[in-house]
Formats: sequence, structure tokens, C-alpha cells
Amino acid sequence: MWFSTHALCVMALSTTLSNPLWLAVTATASHFVLDLVPHEDVPTPLLAGVDVSAGILIGITLWFAYSPGLLFLWGALWAVLPDAEVLLQERGYLSRRFFPSHLPRLHGVLRGKWGVAANCISAVLFFLLFLILH
Ligand SMILES: [Zn+2]
Repeated sequence: MWFSTHALCVMALSTTLSNPLWLAVTATASHFVLDLVPHEDVPTPLLAGVDVSAGILIGITLWFAYSPGLLFLWGALWAVLPDAEVLLQERGYLSRRFFPSHLPRLHGVLRGKWGVAANCISAVLFFLLFLILH
């Protein structure tokens, strides 16, 4: 899933979890689960930059609008951290991926507009969940 989708998922989770360790574990697990859902990954470095920028902008906006606390940022960090290995591999610093949902046999793939829709629909649902739970 996209950076912003992972971040929005855990922003919603952070409204219900108060233990930092449990939030970190849950955030990492959510990354795994979301990566299993068939989806289209960001196809180019430019769009990856747009995705990361959108995720950060959404996080900052929610931060100022709802003052969700530091756990919000802590959870979002753990939600997106597994994708650091994708960047490291693409830059040549890692020979392979290790996070289980990044392995080809587990990673959900859905090409084209339906794959993009899977990301967008998930992001909107997590945003609505955040608004409901906060
Ligand atoms: Zn991932």
C-alpha cells in the first residue's frame, strides 16, 4: 500500500491504543496486513515523493486540527518504517527484501485503476475511522 494509506491506518489506530509498545507492534502488523490486500504500488519515484508528501501533509493537518498527541506520530512512524527497506533495495543498499509482506508470494498486486482504487478507498476509510474514533 501507499505510504499515506499506511500512515492513515495507524493514525486511526493511535486513537484507541495508549501503550507505545503495543502501538508499535500493531502499526507494524497493520503494514503487513495492508500489504496483503491486492493493490497498485507507487510506480515511479516522482509519485512516491507525491505519496510521501501527501502522507506528511495529512499527518500535519490532522495534528493541528485534532492535537492527537505524540503516539499519533510514533504509530505513523512504525506504520511506514517497513517500506524503508524498499527504498534501500531500490537504491542498491540491500540485495533483497526481508519484511514478509514485501516478498512476492505475499505482496498483494492489483494493477491499474482498481489497484489505485484499493489504496484510495482504504485511505478514505481509515480517515473516516480516525474522525469517528477521535
Ligand atoms: Zn510495505
